[in-house]
Amino acid sequence: MDRTILHLDLDTFFVSVERRLDSRLNHKPILVGGTGDRGVVAACSYEARSFGVHSGMPMKMARMMCPEAIVIRGEAGTYTQHSKVVTEIIREAVPLFEKASIDEFYADLSGMDKFFGCYHMASELRQRIIRESGLPISFGLSTNKLVSKVATGEAKPNNQLKIDWGTEKEFLAPMPVKKIPMVGEKTNQILYNLGIKQVRTIQEMPMEMMGTVLGKNGLLLWNRAHGRDESPVIPFHERKSISNERTFGKDTGDLRRMREMLRAMGENLAFQLRNGNKLTSCVSVKIRYADFNTYSRQLKIPYTSADHVLIPHIEHLFDQLYNRRMLVRLIGVNFSDLVSGHYQINLFDDTEEKLNLYQAMDHIRNRYGYNSKGSPILSWGTTLGIPNMGSMGNPFNGEPPIIPAHRNA
Ligand SMILES: [Mg+2]
Repeated sequence: MDRTILHLDLDTFFVSVERRLDSRLNHKPILVGGTGDRGVVAACSYEARSFGVHSGMPMKMARMMCPEAIVIRGEAGTYTQHSKVVTEIIREAVPLFEKASIDEFYADLSGMDKFFGCYHMASELRQRIIRESGLPISFGLSTNKLVSKVATGEAKPNNQLKIDWGTEKEFLAPMPVKKIPMVGEKTNQILYNLGIKQVRTIQEMPMEMMGTVLGKNGLLLWNRAHGRDESPVIPFHERKSISNERTFGKDTGDLRRMREMLRAMGENLAFQLRNGNKLTSCVSVKIRYADFNTYSRQLKIPYTSADHVLIPHIEHLFDQLYNRRMLVRLIGVNFSDLVSGHYQINLFDDTEEKLNLYQAMDHIRNRYGYNSKGSPILSWGTTLGIPNMGSMGNPFNGEPPIIPAHRNA
């Protein structure tokens, strides 16, 4: 059955939120990010981009390239709030939608044609979002997620584009290969070295050849280049949470031990988030007492995947929850309200150094199952009974866990 998939993406989201709060920022080059000497650009306006500035760049360099830019230290909480406003508008308007990131959504409009045209409906939804949130948003509409996402990119800024059934291949043909979302810097370079610059070239190649060059990804890319993508819209409310809990062998009142374990669980879960490219905006802590009475407490927070943000919340929730009157049988931590997104959301608070530190730590965990200080991160797991997350790979992609070679024996 033919599908109708809508992709919506807020334009320069952080910048637009700042402009919504202060209209004097309109039409000016804006940099949002860490304002310290070692800060990083998290987002920039189109006016700043024309100076060659892009996100992820050191703020210092961006300021040199575009000295007249207004630099704003962003605030994750404000953006999370605005993201939720837009989410609620979409939730009301369509029966099935996916929140792909803080500023990006898919909706499955299949079968809604009978009542009124999907394009008409999408246009009305877009106008409503602009009116009610005050934020510019663009959309692409087609038969699948991939083509709609590319169409949104072509429509930007603040516009919309429909790709009719049967024209997907010809729509993609003239584009540079890196416009296909799965083509990163590395793949682009491999293709470039082979003389493949346009999507059209991939379309003209035999499928087997792409397979030979890029393996399994090559076949996927070949299909994408033809505008084919079967992936479903994953309903927002079904997005899973991640959690970790531990029943003590013997009920305990050892506060230090409990706090240590909560920290370890928080670290492991945050690592899983980053590894799966996810952010959470709801933390909860659970305590089950010796009499089996179970209590939990949750806190809504700005989207994050950083240990140094999450762990203090966990500790605080535990302190609020724990009554010290009875021994504890079980404690647990849960992160829910997950969306896809990079650690980048916390760039405002953080320096490039901290960001690099997280990346380095995660790399070490992924590679060796050791933490940055050289002790096996299993030590928590083995002493406290927490499964080792260092060897789990990405918990969100359904792939089986990767077992490091040195643990095979
Ligand atoms: Mg966006």
